[in-house]
Parts: sequence; C-alpha cells; structure tokens
Amino acid sequence: MQCPGCKTEVDDKAMGCPTCGARRGYFMDRRGRVGGKLKVWGGIVLVLLVGVGVFIAPMLYTWPVNDTIVWLLGIFAFVILLAAAQFIFYLIRGPVWYPPEGWQG
Ligand SMILES: [Zn+2]
Repeated sequence: MQCPGCKTEVDDKAMGCPTCGARRGYFMDRRGRVGGKLKVWGGIVLVLLVGVGVFIAPMLYTWPVNDTIVWLLGIFAFVILLAAAQFIFYLIRGPVWYPPEGWQG
C-alpha cells in the first residue's frame, strides 16, 4: 500500500504513514482526530444502548402499549437505524487516509 501523501510504501495494516504523518482511520471527528475500528464499534454499541433505553423506557411507563407508542417506537427504530448506518458504513468501507494532524488546506 502506498501513502497518498508522499508515496511511501507502508504496511497494508498500518494506520498511518511514518514519513509524512498521514493518518489512516475509519472516520474523522469534529476536532480532526481520526478514529479507529474500536471507536466505530463503540459508536454502534452506544447507539444500540441509547436505542434500547429509548425503546424500553417508554414501554415500561405506558403498559399496555397503545398506538401512539407503536408509532413512536417505529420512529425511534428508524432514527437508530440511521444513526447506526453511518458506523456500519465506516466498517464496510474500511479505513481511509487522512492528512497529517494540523494539515491546512
Ligand atoms: Zn506519507
């Protein structure tokens, strides 16, 4: 595998380039930090945990389930799926190259 920044040959499993400092990861957060696979899985787990909380909590308080709750759960399920889809997409796409930290332009 070749670093797109400086064309240095790096290991296929490398998560960065030792020559120019280019980084390889699954996503970049708002602070410009590149996230690894563990963080992607962490995101999925977080979405599922929040999802389960959001699903289960209203059901416990409004038993038996009425039509409104069914609708709400449907909307929640959709939102959770969308939230998780982003992370699932990262995993399917695999790691990509990002410029070195502090890189401008
Ligand atoms: Zn490089």
